[in-house]
Amino acid sequence: MLTSPSLPVSGTRTSCPTLTMDELSEITQHLLRFSPDALIVIDAASRIRFANETVRDVFGYGPEELLGSSLEKLIPERFRPHHGAHTAEFISAPKKREMGARIADLFALRADGTEFAAGIRLAPFRIGSKLFVAAAIRDTTERRLANEELLVARKEAERANRAKSRFLATASHDLRQPLQTVRLLNASMSKITPDAQTRELLQQQGQAIESMTRLLNALLDIGRLESGAIEPVETRVPVDAVFAELRTEFELVAAARNVDLIFRPSKIVLSTDRTLFSQLLQNLIGNALKYTDRGWVRVSCVIENGGVVVSVEDSGIGIPSDKLERIFDEYYQVDTHGTKRMGVGLGLAIVKEVARLLGFSVRIRSTVGEGTQATIAIPAQHRLASDDSRADAPSVRVSAAPSRKGRLILVEDNEGVRIATELFLKLEGYATLTAGSLAEAEALLTQFKHGDIVIADYHLDDRNTGLDMLLRLREQRGVDVPGVILSGDLPSVLRSIKVPVPNSHFLSKPVDTTALLDAIDDLSRV
Ligand code: ADP
Repeated sequence: MLTSPSLPVSGTRTSCPTLTMDELSEITQHLLRFSPDALIVIDAASRIRFANETVRDVFGYGPEELLGSSLEKLIPERFRPHHGAHTAEFISAPKKREMGARIADLFALRADGTEFAAGIRLAPFRIGSKLFVAAAIRDTTERRLANEELLVARKEAERANRAKSRFLATASHDLRQPLQTVRLLNASMSKITPDAQTRELLQQQGQAIESMTRLLNALLDIGRLESGAIEPVETRVPVDAVFAELRTEFELVAAARNVDLIFRPSKIVLSTDRTLFSQLLQNLIGNALKYTDRGWVRVSCVIENGGVVVSVEDSGIGIPSDKLERIFDEYYQVDTHGTKRMGVGLGLAIVKEVARLLGFSVRIRSTVGEGTQATIAIPAQHRLASDDSRADAPSVRVSAAPSRKGRLILVEDNEGVRIATELFLKLEGYATLTAGSLAEAEALLTQFKHGDIVIADYHLDDRNTGLDMLLRLREQRGVDVPGVILSGDLPSVLRSIKVPVPNSHFLSKPVDTTALLDAIDDLSRV
């Protein structure tokens, strides 16, 4: 006789009438008969001692045809030799388990000689000193096929996703050159036009170029992050130094929006990738300022439970709670009904990817109308002992001497960019010499005079970079020739530089014309 399963026969807390032993026995019989799985019980000699009605559907045998037979009757011949050993092992150390968990491809044999993929669960039990094993067997052919199809579909989706990332990275990279040209031409035209109305139009065009640049940068970032092209490089990062850079970057935007941008001083030093950590904060602070019309944005870094927590809080419009779950998705934007769309919906997707790369976790809490708090939890192993004497002091310009407008040697292989940059620099009052290739540049650099500044594209040809060229020139001349290096993939360039390059500026393409002039101005003072 089989032991009874535990059903509420008496003493239950509900007011439900309890079952009599007869009713319970009926139910047990029903369950056994019509269980969705074929149920069989074998004894220690692998003989079938019980089979339910479902064996008819699953195996094509009536239960009575199986009683007394060896279990091997249900096992395809090619598996029988192994099966004997498995059964012996199981019976010597019986425990509940899913057979399929260990034996991946389990097959069973029907009465008509066909095979099917089977999921089998075993439950040993004893009656007195006799050991029995109950087996629940189901046909998993369909599930297996569905799994295989899912696997193929997943592989295909991953392949398509990689192709998308590659396309995005290439397309956005290639779009940088023409955009750079347009940007420089816009700045040049704004400079020469005497007509106020045309200047106004050019200013609007300038804004459109800015948002195109932002979109392009975001697309390039997400492409690079998703394709796995970025590997974090951990260095010593004093949080205050990063805060100082971010303050410089955002203070004008904050002032223009009439928002107080507050950085709480912090002595914490992290071991992390400085560029990526900065990018994480840039996106969060950028959002906080974008979605705050009045009040404040506060950035802080504190120790909490041994780890570090960086917060970016704002007193802005907030995010509805039902939208919070989706804001990290690519291209997702909270319905900005009635308000101007201010982004492209990639900022937080980038935050999520960067945080994943750095081993941090990011959480956003928000209340509509009150504000939003983004917190980055940084595990304790990323915190270094702070050492004030080593703290990186923010770079301060010592000399306030007026800048001279010296000669600029421009090396840029893209003709459109070269012409537009030259025009822009000439209009700014600089004398320029230009080269369109490394060979031209080498010839031009023989005319190099003290006081000249080199402005070079980083990617000149397959083997040489603008930086190599600058370093060679420095070696020849025995002085740190000032240089501005421009790159469409600045983070990778910065990452590849192992020793600091004094007397130089590295700028991202499409270059911000003000940043270019600032860099030239700075190098002119040296
Ligand atoms: P976007 O480029 O639109 O800013 P993000 O991925 O950065 O894209 O953010 C997704 C959405 O989350 C935004 O469209 C915005 O509605 C919402 N959001 C993000 N940060 C904030 C914030 N600090 N305050 C209010 N809403 C925010």
